[in-house]
Amino acid sequence: MNPVIALVGRPNVGKSTLFNRLTRSRDALVADFPGLTRDRKYGNGALGDKTYTVIDTGGISGDEQGIDAAMAEQSLLAIDEADIVLFMVDGRAGLNVADEAIANHLRVNQKKTWLVVNKTDGLDEDTASGDFWGLGIGDPRPIAAAHGRNVTALIEEVLAPFPEREANAAPPDLSNGVRIGVIGRPNVGKSTLVNRLLGEERVVVFDEAGTTRDAIEIPFERRGKPYVLVDTAGVRRRKNVTQIAEKFSIIKTLDAIKECHVAIMVLDARSGLVEQDLHLLDYVLTSGRALVLAVNKWDGLEAEAKEKMRAQIKRRLGFADYAEMHFISALHGTAVGDLYPSIDRAFASANSHWSTNRLTNILQDAVTEHQPPLVHGRRIKLRMAHQGGSNPPIIVVHGNQTESLPEAYKRFLTNTFRKVLKVRGTPIRFEFRSGK
Ligand code: GDP
Ligand code: GDP
Repeated sequence: MNPVIALVGRPNVGKSTLFNRLTRSRDALVADFPGLTRDRKYGNGALGDKTYTVIDTGGISGDEQGIDAAMAEQSLLAIDEADIVLFMVDGRAGLNVADEAIANHLRVNQKKTWLVVNKTDGLDEDTASGDFWGLGIGDPRPIAAAHGRNVTALIEEVLAPFPEREANAAPPDLSNGVRIGVIGRPNVGKSTLVNRLLGEERVVVFDEAGTTRDAIEIPFERRGKPYVLVDTAGVRRRKNVTQIAEKFSIIKTLDAIKECHVAIMVLDARSGLVEQDLHLLDYVLTSGRALVLAVNKWDGLEAEAKEKMRAQIKRRLGFADYAEMHFISALHGTAVGDLYPSIDRAFASANSHWSTNRLTNILQDAVTEHQPPLVHGRRIKLRMAHQGGSNPPIIVVHGNQTESLPEAYKRFLTNTFRKVLKVRGTPIRFEFRSGK
C-alpha cells in the first residue's frame, strides 16, 4: 500500500500548490471529497521507484468554532489516515497564531510530522525559517512549492523509510479470475453482502489466508468460475454487527477501487442517497473502473419508500448510468446471486477488443446518421477509429478540427458506440486526434 502524506496548514500557505506538484504525473488519480467549505483532495504520485498518496486536507486554523470546527475535524480525520504529515507554514507571512494552534493539535497526534516552510523563493532560507523553530515540531524545512525548490529532496527524505514499489504490485493477475471490490459508506451493508456473496450456494471459498499484500484476497469459485474478493476494508473479518463498525476510510476505499476489476457499490435504500455516495461513485468513474450498483436493504420497504429511492437514483445517478443496477437484500440474500452475471458482463465489457475496421464502420455510420457541425465554415471530419486501450476501453477517433467537437456530439458518439458494441458496466473513454 502506498505511504499516505497529508498536507496540513492554515489556508493560503500553499497546500494545493504543493499537492498539484506532487500529483503531477500523468496517471495520478485524483478524487475530490468536498468538505463544508473546501475540498479534501486525494491524489497519487511517484518519485523514482516509490509511489505515494497525497491528501490535501483543506484549510484549518486550529481555533475553529461551530461549523468551522466541524470542518477542521474533517481535516484532522484525514490526518488519521496518513502515515506522514507535512505541516505547512508560510515563510513570507511568518509565524501566525493559527500555526501554533495547529502545532498543538499535531503534537498530540503521534504521526511523523515534518515542518515545511513554504514560499522561501527569493528569501534567505535561514531567515525565513527562523521564526518557526519555536513551534517545537522539529527542524523547519524551507521549500518553494510554486517553483519546486527543495521539494524533491524533501519528498525523498520523507519517503526514505518506506520500501520501493513491490515488483509484483503491477497490474492484478487476470488468471485467478475477476477481482471484485465491495465499496460504500459505513452501514450500507457491505460486510453483510460480502458474507452473503461468499456464503451463497455453489460458492467454494479457498484458503482465506492469502494475504500477500495489504489487501486481503479471498479466492473463490462459483459454478466453476474463479473470482477473487478484494477486501481492503476488512469487512470480511467483521464477523458480527455488534462489533463497532470501523471508521470510514477513504484511503481504504480508494485502494479497494484500485485493486479490483469490478467494483460493487452498495447503496442503502433505507437512508437514501447522500453526498458521500455520489463522491465515491464519482471516484469509481474517474478511475475508469467497471461498476455494478447494488441498492441494498430493499426488504420490507414500503412502496412509497421504494418509489422515492428510484426517483432519487434517476435524478442523481445519471452520470453512472453505464452500470447495471440491482435491488437486493444482503440480509435475506434476495437477488444477491444476480450480481454475478452483471459482474461478468462488466468485466467482459471492460476488457473487450474491437478491430479498427469495426470501430471505423460504427464511426462512419454515426457520422452519416448525424453529421458533426461546421466550424469556421468547415465541417468537422471524423475519419477513423481504433482502440487505444482497455479496462476501461479507450476509443481513439482521428479526423480534422476534432478539438472543436461539441460535448453534445461526443455524448452522441459515446451512446452510439455503447449501444452498438453492447458495452455494459464500464465507462468508455474517447480520445480525439486531428490531422494526418
Ligand atoms: P492553500 O490554501 O494552502 O491550498 O494555498 P494555495 O496553494 O492555494 O496557495 C496560496 C497562494 O500562495 C497562491 O497565490 C499561491 O500562488 C501562493 N504560493 C504557493 N506556493 C508558493 C511559493 O512557493 N512561493 C510563492 N511566492 N507563492 C506561493
Ligand atoms: P457495512 O458497514 O457497510 O459493512 O454494513 P453492515 O454489513 O455491517 O450492515 C449494517 C447494518 O445494516 C446491520 O445492522 C445489518 O444487519 C443491516 N443490513 C445489512 N444488509 C441489510 C439488508 O439487506 N436489509 C436490512 N433490513 N438490513 C440490512
